[in-house]
Amino acid sequence: MGNGHRMRDRFAAGTQYIGGRLRSGTSGRTQDVVNPATGETVHTYELASAADVDAAVAAARDALPGWAGATPGERSDALHRFAGVLAERAEDLAHTESVQCGKPIKLTTEFDVPGTVDNTAFFAGAARHLQGQSAGEYSGDHTSYVRREPIGAVGSIAPWNYPLQMAAWKILPAIAAGNTIVLKPAEITPLTSLMFAEAAVEAGVPDGVVNVVSGAGRDAGEHLVGHPDIAMTSFTGSTAVGRRVAEIATASVKRLHLELGGKAPFVVFDDADVEAAAHGAVAGALINSGQDCTAATRAYVQRPLYDAFVAAVADLMGTVRLGDPLDPATDLGPLVSHLQRDRVAGFVDRARAYATVVTGGEAPQGDLKRGAYYRPTLITGAAQDSEIVQSEIFGPVLVVLPFDTDDEGIALANDTPYGLAASAWSRDVYRAGRATREIKAGCVWVNDHIPIISEMPHGGYKASGFGKDMSAYSFEEYTQVKHVMYDNTAVARKDWHRTIFGDRP
Ligand code: NAD
Repeated sequence: MGNGHRMRDRFAAGTQYIGGRLRSGTSGRTQDVVNPATGETVHTYELASAADVDAAVAAARDALPGWAGATPGERSDALHRFAGVLAERAEDLAHTESVQCGKPIKLTTEFDVPGTVDNTAFFAGAARHLQGQSAGEYSGDHTSYVRREPIGAVGSIAPWNYPLQMAAWKILPAIAAGNTIVLKPAEITPLTSLMFAEAAVEAGVPDGVVNVVSGAGRDAGEHLVGHPDIAMTSFTGSTAVGRRVAEIATASVKRLHLELGGKAPFVVFDDADVEAAAHGAVAGALINSGQDCTAATRAYVQRPLYDAFVAAVADLMGTVRLGDPLDPATDLGPLVSHLQRDRVAGFVDRARAYATVVTGGEAPQGDLKRGAYYRPTLITGAAQDSEIVQSEIFGPVLVVLPFDTDDEGIALANDTPYGLAASAWSRDVYRAGRATREIKAGCVWVNDHIPIISEMPHGGYKASGFGKDMSAYSFEEYTQVKHVMYDNTAVARKDWHRTIFGDRP
């Protein structure tokens, strides 16, 4: 069966998941889901209207008292079962993610899907471990303690680069903490978010706790962010859209969580293992065709290693196999769309005027011509303030620049508006330690670049946003803290009443 038939049958009931069932959108406008490896339309659906968003928010509000009132153990049990259902469907999820995004099946099978199952299992455990300050008699006359309470119905918006993982990062901490949620995936890649929501309900998460509206950003997205019954907005996407989301969310005084763009530096000091650094740079730049907010995008290499590093990276890029995403031998798939490929090509073409394209810089011909492919691209000779060094490209493009002193390397790493992730490469523990302290980013790797784990937080500094996904830290985002204070004296006239009643008896 072709992918088109398979998807059309799978989502015949519609591409909105509201109150525990799939239904059609009602906007009157359709959206194609296109396999970027072939250009084939695999599904066409009706986008969500404002009324569909209202229905999803109402379902989330209705489900809130029951779910917020469930014990942590009950929520944890449902999430454990949810992890089991996802694991059973691993193959279907990996296939669908590869088809709608063009990701190599190797990546979806080894990274996207198992990462999502592991996140789910982590939040099943974390649901029972909400942390807070210990109760105590801090005033002497009262007992104080902290409650961590759900915030309410959360509205989340996700990008297209890791649709399944982004759905998981948004939905899991929210529901583990007792909130309900309406997620709006990117309109070009809604399918695995819907499958994720279905699996949650089939595992025993009640109807209405997880809802998905597949709609356009400007209307369904903005309507969700501004909705008066939504208590919190959690957004992952570009910094430009994040600014707009922040404006709308702050106007209605909502809790706000923003995971935005990145332009990760990759700093190679002159005592580093150059072979390891070159492998790390190529894998870190090309993962998911470079459509990764933490991808290595700017390599700064101390002068003695610069030539060897550039030569090794160029050689390694030449060994990466572009091909059919469903072929297990494929290393690099297409970009998510022809539009995104052309955007990336535009950045590289403009850079030719002021920098050198060492390798790549073109779309492959032959069998891959129909797809949104772009060759791994290495650029040198660009100035620090040029567009290719400063702007997020979101494609398989690595820029390499030399530096002389350690101070200069760290200053260059910090010299963009972004601060999501970075890496430092050195065998000297003091140099690496200094880099981890002084680079302004939410994650700094030493002698590696990319790995993430459920137990550790992911989130940005500077224009990369604020708030943390994954880990126990995400409960800070999806809970509100209440101080409860009990009087222990049982007297009518408390000591502190002297401020009002003076020395009157
Ligand atoms: P995008 O900002 O264009 O879109 C993200 C989401 O916002 C989509 O669902 C889109 O429909 C929606 N949207 C668009 N306009 C909107 C509006 N006016 N109001 C409300 N919603 C709106 O981003 P993208 O192109 O889908 O994804 C790539 C971007 O995501 C990159 O900048 C990347 O760095 C970022 N990203 C960040 C992280 C992180 O953790 N920091 C993770 C993944 C991706």
